[in-house]
Amino acid sequence: MKKEKMKKLLILAVAVILVFSLVACGNSGDGDVVTYKAVTEPSFPPFDTTDKDGNIIGFDMDLMNAIAEDQGFKVEYTALGFDALIPALEAGNADIITAGMNAEDPARQAKVDFSTTYYDSALVVVVKADNTTINGFGDLTADMKVASQIATTGADKADALAAEGKIKEAVILDAFTTCILQLRNGDVDAVIIDKPVAESYIKKQPDYVKTVGEPEGAESYGFAVQKGNKELLDKINTGLQNMIDNGTYDELIAKWF
Ligand code: GLN
Repeated sequence: MKKEKMKKLLILAVAVILVFSLVACGNSGDGDVVTYKAVTEPSFPPFDTTDKDGNIIGFDMDLMNAIAEDQGFKVEYTALGFDALIPALEAGNADIITAGMNAEDPARQAKVDFSTTYYDSALVVVVKADNTTINGFGDLTADMKVASQIATTGADKADALAAEGKIKEAVILDAFTTCILQLRNGDVDAVIIDKPVAESYIKKQPDYVKTVGEPEGAESYGFAVQKGNKELLDKINTGLQNMIDNGTYDELIAKWF
């Protein structure tokens, strides 16, 4: 009789332990989903922009979210100036840059690590729709002001043209939205901007601005992580390849372009 009771108690105890350990497992399973902090500069449609409520959206976010789901992590997005993105990673205030950032830039590669590239791009000249004198980079002259966004490859190009005396002034602004606004207002003669982004702005205001001439300076966008964060970089690269292989990448291209 006593033995029988002991046996029952033991079974009960084992059952209780089992239930508790299962619950604990479930909890730790949820708690293990890491949330990484991503930073972007959302005046770069269709890669990085905002919806009417101010939420950060775009091709970059959709692609990174798909990668995150595939690789079992979560991402939160914060907007910063383009010139503050790499410093945010260096200071440990963010984990990922999702900002249509050219990965083929040695100065950037010295500070952060880039994923496999996910989009090939180049720079173009944008002018007012009624401009007939500027038909490409070659028509920019020593009396002209040319705008671009701070810390971008477009700003590097404008600065180089100014240093060579080929334009009067490189007007370096915080956002591409401001560059286009200044162009429409006649404050600058042209804007140097990434081709797909120029096309996105022009689609929204075709009567006011246009792209001219041939693109220059091929570049490729990659996601950036802190130098040496191999664990996160591997997840991003694996997830990106999976999204290319399973067709998600092409679906997102069709959605945003
Ligand atoms: N492609 C450019 C660069 O990498 C601009 C990117 C951007 O403004 N988001 O500098």
